[in-house]
Amino acid sequence: MSELQGQCMCGAVTVTATPARDALGACHCDQCRRWTSSMLVTFQAESGYAALGPVKTFTSSDWAERAFCADCGSALWYRITLPGEMHGQTQMAAGLFEDTGNDLKLELYIDKKPHGYAFAGQRRQMSKAEVEAMYALPEEGDHQ
Ligand SMILES: [Zn+2]
Ligand SMILES: [Zn+2]
Repeated sequence: MSELQGQCMCGAVTVTATPARDALGACHCDQCRRWTSSMLVTFQAESGYAALGPVKTFTSSDWAERAFCADCGSALWYRITLPGEMHGQTQMAAGLFEDTGNDLKLELYIDKKPHGYAFAGQRRQMSKAEVEAMYALPEEGDHQ
């Protein structure tokens, strides 16, 4: 995949990132819903992505943090902080970029999606229990 250039809503933060594979994922968990007002659509970024500008991070759970623009609040990325093989894995907010060219291939926490909207088409969907089993996360909490 080729390197992409993006920016937050106000332009104070610029991001350079390369999708690790040709896929977008959407997360419907409670935290992503509150963070974005709907779902968070991301691509997994190769390590070495870079951001310039006023980036703030928020520890959103025992295993992850979320980065956002300190000026305008745009969601930037979600990063695994848990020690182990997934440490540092980063899901970059796809909306920062004009068009990544990638198709939506996965929906997470599908059982947490509000009933009033849905993506068209077919793709792999995982429930809260399936996501938590995949990440070997603690049972409690609705957060990714
Ligand atoms: Zn901004
Ligand atoms: Zn989520």
